[in-house]
Amino acid sequence: MPGFELFGDLEKKHVNDVLDNGVLMRYGFDGMRNGHWKAKELETALEKTFQVKHAQLVSSGTAALSVALASAGVGAGDEVIMPTFTFVATFEAIMQLGAIPVLVDIDDTLTLCPKAVEKAITSKTKAIMVVHMCGSMGDMDALQAICKAHHLLLIEDACQAIGGEYKGKPLGSIGDLGCFSFDFVKTITCGEGGAVITNNKDYYINSDHYSDHGHDHVGNDRGAETHPFLGYNYRISELHAAVGLAQIQRLPEILAIQKNNFNIIKEVLSEIPEVTFRKVPEGGIENYSFLNFFLPNLETSRKVIQGFKEGGVDACWNYFDNNWHYIRKWDHLKNLKSLAPISEEVKNGLSYLKNKEFSQSDNVIGRNISSLIKLSWTEEQVKERALKMRDIIKASL
Ligand SMILES: *Cc1c(COP(=O)(O)O)cnc(C)c1O
Repeated sequence: MPGFELFGDLEKKHVNDVLDNGVLMRYGFDGMRNGHWKAKELETALEKTFQVKHAQLVSSGTAALSVALASAGVGAGDEVIMPTFTFVATFEAIMQLGAIPVLVDIDDTLTLCPKAVEKAITSKTKAIMVVHMCGSMGDMDALQAICKAHHLLLIEDACQAIGGEYKGKPLGSIGDLGCFSFDFVKTITCGEGGAVITNNKDYYINSDHYSDHGHDHVGNDRGAETHPFLGYNYRISELHAAVGLAQIQRLPEILAIQKNNFNIIKEVLSEIPEVTFRKVPEGGIENYSFLNFFLPNLETSRKVIQGFKEGGVDACWNYFDNNWHYIRKWDHLKNLKSLAPISEEVKNGLSYLKNKEFSQSDNVIGRNISSLIKLSWTEEQVKERALKMRDIIKASL
């Protein structure tokens, strides 16, 4: 990760196909496009790769989350359970629909703690959004059992875990709907883009219409299409889809490089008794985009991060003080700093956040360090990095 490290001729070829006929729009213009349907081809490739019946491309991973929720009927006043550790996009997508994000603790999988999820369920709960952070997954069996018992939707935010698996199934294909991001820093990228995948035909048709103004996409005359329901514009462009089509072909290669680099570093860090690794649920296979490990406490993590900075080990984070990924610094959410008025229902629904402690999450995140796994490192560079990391950690204990 990220996929842009491997850009090459394949991306150029697909982009040039689009530029040669000039049709940047994914729908219509059949006579002008010389047979090039990059978005449609990428959707077919996603269906094949992720073993699902349907894939709908959209303009971003955040859009994918909103479209997935809306397609399954989640809206005003509904509660959606989500983790304290994710990217801000998760609660944005929920809030945008007038729904209420209910944040709950993570465990040492770095994803939703099933016990915390169960405790947070109310009569208003409609969905559970599991976020497969940093390349690995939540305990899907436990979460599926909770959803079944309480008649809830399970939506997977697999934006950071594309290519990972759980019990033989691709991440994103297990819940009712799965979401991917192809933004610039993701495992495969097309600049900006995302996708919703599902085996549910109704959700798919809903996401197809909803992401394009509610147009029904029936027949060849765009102007004659009707609107079964309200929609918005979350379309991807043909240019973005063209880059994505090249990148999806590189996914096996990307995953193999990540795995190799990940294992080299993990093996070296395993020499240190105080270092433990993030828990991967039984039957799970990471996509190896990040190596996550735990140190004895927050103080050591901070010391190690400082040591990494001074020692020239880049792309490592402790998320405790991070603005983008962890609840502690999300004051704009806690204090509801919104440009436009927010409904009383959502305000009341979120008031719990003002004083809530997430000590279990603080404990996990405080001890965690996450190292990005790059694709462009040479074998020598990975080995050198691993030894540097080992020595700095040892000196910080
Ligand atoms: C990147 C990301 C998103 C949002 O994707 P965009 O394409 O940037 O909108 C959502 N969730 C997670 C976990 C992400 O990492």
